[in-house]
Formats: sequence, structure tokens, C-alpha cells
Amino acid sequence: MTAYGEEDLLQLSGLQHFAFCRRQWALIHLEGQWAENILTAQGQILHQNAHDDGFAEKRRDLLVTRGLRVFSRSLGVSGACDVVEFRRSPEGVPLRGREGSWLPTPVEYKRGHSKETDADRLQLCAQGICLEEMLACPVPAGYLYYGETRRREEVPFTEALRTQVREMLEEMHQYARRGYTPRVKPGKFCGACSLKELCLPGLLGKLSPEKYIRAHLEEVAEE
Ligand code: SF4
Repeated sequence: MTAYGEEDLLQLSGLQHFAFCRRQWALIHLEGQWAENILTAQGQILHQNAHDDGFAEKRRDLLVTRGLRVFSRSLGVSGACDVVEFRRSPEGVPLRGREGSWLPTPVEYKRGHSKETDADRLQLCAQGICLEEMLACPVPAGYLYYGETRRREEVPFTEALRTQVREMLEEMHQYARRGYTPRVKPGKFCGACSLKELCLPGLLGKLSPEKYIRAHLEEVAEE
């Protein structure tokens, strides 16, 4: 099993970008570009609410921790869980200052509603794998909470989903090592992309971004 070094760890949140569009991930995570649109702003507000403190509250047999930092050497990722719920369980792990053993379940907050694509489920599953590695206990499932519907969706961490996470991260590491940003392949999803102005998907087939910028500069120079 590959064990990635600290310098190779990728951002866990990048999985949802990569699943949405590989080019978007590369622009954000390899080239450091970010354009805020209303969708990302709404998502950030939801995340601020989820990360409002690092306090653990006890409700009967339930502990809730917010903003827990997680990482996995086998996946080569690090990031934070919006919320991790610890439920009392014989399969769980001991927690400092608490009696008994506790089983973790990650909960991720998302804007909008449940999607057909697996982007959110992949990110959540990667959080589950991180928790398993860090705490050495099983994490069989997690929850996605959607801001629009105010509903929780249970996500079982099946072997198929785990394999998808591992394969996708291997691909991301390959891109990261090469510093490779894939070319524009526009689709319907571009309408909801925060980087569409930078990526210029509407110009595909007419001009490359570089040629577009050069043409624009030439226009300005002629004015
Ligand atoms: S505009 Fe489309 S092709 Fe470009 S990064 Fe966004 S989703 Fe990907």
C-alpha cells in the first residue's frame, strides 16, 4: 500500500471538484484560481455554520465534534470534517475524558439537494476512510445534510464507493505530480461552475483561452 508523505497530501475537498470536472479541480488546486459565485458563497455560509466552534456536546449517547482535522497516508489527503458524530458502540474507540467506546460517523453539509453524481458521496467516503485510519475502528457510513431540503441522506461506504475514492485520488496524485491541467471539455455542468468566466467554455472550438486573451489584448492595443 502506498503511504504518501506530508508534502504530497492533497486537499480532501478537492475530490468533489475533481468528480465534478477534472479541469475545475486543476484550476483551483494546481493553479490556485478561485472565482466566487453565488453557489460557492452559499456553500461557504453553510460551512461556516457547521464549523462555528470546535465544541463537543453530549446528548445521551451522542457526542458531536465540529471541524475535526483528518488525514490519510494511504489516500494522500488531508482536510476537515464539518461534523463528526460519535455514538456509543462496542465496536468504537475510547475517547479521552469519556467513558465507554465510541464509533465515529462523518456528516458533511452541502448547499442544494441530493445530486445524481457521486461527488458529495466520494468526499464523504474519503472522510470515513481517514477516520478509520486515524482511529483504527470501522466507519461503515456517513451522512450528507442538504441545506435546500434540510434533509440528511445516509451514505453507506460500500466497497464500490471506496474503490472509486482510491482510484480517483490516484489519478489526482498523477495530475498533481505532472502539474497537469486538463483541457476544456464543456458540458451542461459548466453553467453551475464558479470558474466558467476563467475557463471560457463557450469559446471552445473557436479560440483557446491563450488565443482569446491575446486577441483581446490586440483589440485593446488597436483602440
Ligand atoms: S467551465 Fe466547465 S470545463 Fe471549465 S472548469 Fe468549469 S466545469 Fe470545467
